[in-house]
Amino acid sequence: MTVFFFIFLVTISLIGLTAGAHRLYAHRTFTATSELRFFIMIAHTLAGVGSIKNWVFWHRIHHKYYGTDRDPYNHKKGFLFSHVYGNMLSSPSDLNTYAKTIDMSDIKSDGYVRTQHKFYWILFIVLGFMIPINIPIMYWNESLANSIMIMGITRLMITSNISWLVNSAMLVWGLKKGDRFPVEDNSIFFIWKSFWINYHYVIPWDWKSDEFGRYEKGFVTFIIKIWWELGLVKEMMTVSREKMYEVLYKVADSEITMDDALEKMKERATEDALKEGLMYYH
Ligand SMILES: [Zn+2]
Repeated sequence: MTVFFFIFLVTISLIGLTAGAHRLYAHRTFTATSELRFFIMIAHTLAGVGSIKNWVFWHRIHHKYYGTDRDPYNHKKGFLFSHVYGNMLSSPSDLNTYAKTIDMSDIKSDGYVRTQHKFYWILFIVLGFMIPINIPIMYWNESLANSIMIMGITRLMITSNISWLVNSAMLVWGLKKGDRFPVEDNSIFFIWKSFWINYHYVIPWDWKSDEFGRYEKGFVTFIIKIWWELGLVKEMMTVSREKMYEVLYKVADSEITMDDALEKMKERATEDALKEGLMYYH
């Protein structure tokens, strides 16, 4: 029974981290109702990886300064740095200067995120630690030692690793130099809409970019689809293969640059998402 409870809580934390902190908050790939945002706040607290506000801040820095010295999870420094050390090192001394280049206004205006940040430690100790350890002891007579070991230590180790993987997944599943499709050739991601982990760094605003599986088919993508069916999310940002071709032809004909093309794709996706959002309520 404790094992089932363990799997259940890890799954909820995974959803809070990947669908919540990553796709909803860090990249704004869709909008969510307040009920869902409340659930995400609780699910993220269970994971024990710090507040959503901090997570989003470091992830936005990671994307903006990707692969440079300012990238806190710089993959060029190796897997251990990207996956573990980057999360533990103290902040660089010039952090305040470049932190100003990250827009966090949307995060600051979210009541649930603000509350979670303000009361993080008390929320985490009660929701993320005491309750998960107490439930197996109270309801199915699990021993205190087992409950602390499984529901406390092991569970939080796994959820921390899931959180770190979002930033280091590139090194596990990403393309490397010399692979069949070279990393420098971005067009391959547009055309195939695959090699998802590389794709995410080019088009981070696509709601279907999956952290733990193939692009478009992952477990978290499936969960967000269910939320959409339930009317809990709307304005989902994505881009179809046809639209990508259209824009890429223009790049090929040197009518526009790749940066302009990416900007154009995002503009279109925003328009489509808003239209879809309106349609949903009519
Ligand atoms: Zn991301």
